[in-house]
Amino acid sequence: MSIKSKLSRWIDRALRMPTCEEIEALAYDFLEKNLDAKTEKRMLRHFKLCPPCMRFIEAYRRTRKAGRGLPAPKLDPAFQEHLMRMFRKD
Ligand SMILES: [Zn+2]
Repeated sequence: MSIKSKLSRWIDRALRMPTCEEIEALAYDFLEKNLDAKTEKRMLRHFKLCPPCMRFIEAYRRTRKAGRGLPAPKLDPAFQEHLMRMFRKD
């Protein structure tokens, strides 16, 4: 395991940050403000450290504004690639 991924695991545990996968799963509730304050804070912390997730939530927000009631947008290829890289590390 690389030092970088060890470090990011440690940070995740220390801050009890959601994983990128959880961010994706929680995106809808996050934008609907259905999450409790703690979870919301953890997501915001994740966004600060993870630009691909930040871009994902921004794209999600824009799509929702453009057309309420539309299903979730297709994953941005860069974000998908980011997720794949995370999984491959394990
Ligand atoms: Zn992420």
